[in-house]
Amino acid sequence: MLEDPTAHGDLLELLISQLSEFVIVTADSGGNFTSWHPGVEQTFGYTADEFIGQNIELLFTPEDRARGAVSEELERAAKTGRSSDTRWLVKKNGGRILAEGVTVGLRLSGGRLKGFAKVMRDVTERQNAENARLEMQRQLEAANERLRQMTQELERSNEELEDFARIASHDLSAPITSTRWLVEMLNRRHGNNLDASGQECLKQISLSLERMSLLVDAVLAHSQFGKGAIGSANSTSAEAALEIAMANLRSEIASSEAAISHDHLPELLVEPHALTQLFQNLLSNAIKYKRPGTRPEIKIWARREGSMWLMAVEDNGIGIQAEWFERIFLPMQRLHGSEIAGSGIGLATCKKIVSRAGGKIWVESEVGSGSTFFFTLPGPPAQGRERDALDSNDETRDPAG
Ligand code: ADP
Repeated sequence: MLEDPTAHGDLLELLISQLSEFVIVTADSGGNFTSWHPGVEQTFGYTADEFIGQNIELLFTPEDRARGAVSEELERAAKTGRSSDTRWLVKKNGGRILAEGVTVGLRLSGGRLKGFAKVMRDVTERQNAENARLEMQRQLEAANERLRQMTQELERSNEELEDFARIASHDLSAPITSTRWLVEMLNRRHGNNLDASGQECLKQISLSLERMSLLVDAVLAHSQFGKGAIGSANSTSAEAALEIAMANLRSEIASSEAAISHDHLPELLVEPHALTQLFQNLLSNAIKYKRPGTRPEIKIWARREGSMWLMAVEDNGIGIQAEWFERIFLPMQRLHGSEIAGSGIGLATCKKIVSRAGGKIWVESEVGSGSTFFFTLPGPPAQGRERDALDSNDETRDPAG
């Protein structure tokens, strides 16, 4: 507590004089400045001599003066005790600043108006920064909107392309089937009348038709998984989907004598048809790309990882070089020629199914030893014994790690 009022007053004056980022001045009841402050020179450029005695309107813009803003401000301060606002003011050099401030009407104890005190500060930079932020936000929103429109347009044209591929591959299936049938009949009825080169021609036609049919089936399968997301609110038994995939590959499994073993597989939130196609493509590859002279051995296992299941299809086949690990998931990327039949679309379809269901797919492999295709898919929440086992795992887990 300060004892000496004079010292107290001096300190206050010292404080006010040092607050040069503010402008703190007084005016008489007519609005003529009666004091000066270092902030006046710093903000407006006026020395004490130039400032004291000038009317408050000195700082107002010609537009504000013309519309009576000066008397309006003083009247409000005199009547209500204060008038605060943010307005553009003019500096000595004609430049303008945005000032935020308050004008206080000073009254003596009898109620007579003695004059005014005005406290202001320059907020031009703050306003400029705010304007820049708003402009950036506006540009960002505009860019986002453009991106949203482009994505929408891309999705629409992708859908159109997929519709086209589905219709084209569907409509091509019928003429391919009838041509294959005609070639077979020609061979059966008239094959004996053809010389060796004629028979070779027929054989090549058959092979080409077979390849064409494989490709068309693959394009059809790929485009079928085009519309909407593949994830499903209902769960699908992965065991059942695998059984159907194996039944569809019955002849390939039998002729290669493939041994397929699997863990108990979980329920997954994926459409049954998509899950079957996924297993079918991966199993068919594991059989096709076997090492010559060996029997394909394929293992399928599953492990829960939170709300997702990690699944793996492991083979003992020829393996894949690391530089192909990502490219094989793109359409039409094959490491083989016609010596092994294929469309180059199977893994692209797997990727489409898995990513539309919210998962990921990748491969790990060593040339000469085999490949493991991993994928993640969402499953329904754990229940019963599985839930208890997960809870007890959580309890025994080291909290640090
Ligand atoms: P394809 O119809 O040619 O099999 P995919 O898209 O299914 O087309 O596979 C792309 C390429 O990836 C294949 O051509 C093959 O070279 C390679 N590949 C896929 N699966 C395996 C595997 N299990 N083992 C070795 N190579 C594989």
